[in-house]
Amino acid sequence: MSRNEFAPLPSAATARYWAATRERRLLLQWCPNCERHVHHPREACPGCLSTELQWRESAGRGTVHAVSVHYRPFAPMTAEDCPYAVAFVDLEDGVRFLANVTADDLEAIRVGDPVSLQWSPIADGYHLPVFHANAH
Ligand SMILES: [Zn+2]
Repeated sequence: MSRNEFAPLPSAATARYWAATRERRLLLQWCPNCERHVHHPREACPGCLSTELQWRESAGRGTVHAVSVHYRPFAPMTAEDCPYAVAFVDLEDGVRFLANVTADDLEAIRVGDPVSLQWSPIADGYHLPVFHANAH
């Protein structure tokens, strides 16, 4: 199975998130009680346990918090992607997001680099958010 054949299995808590990826829109949960975003999608706010979480669209802009470049596949489905970079991205929305990061030169990606959102198609019309690190 390659990465393009991967399909998520949305739960009640993640269905809106995954449905929006079909339109290449990144949705984050918003807690009106704490007035902050919540990610990953879940049933209740980790700060106040409110179940009144709302959805807001993210522009997908942020910076690299940490990055790791992988030369050996984590699983057979990632073999064709090697080498690839995985990073924690601090979105302007205030959440830390784990995703693949692309760049002209993966080894040149640095902590603090600005990134922008792109999309990688997977099965059933869904997409995975991928961030592109801008060149120095
Ligand atoms: Zn809250």
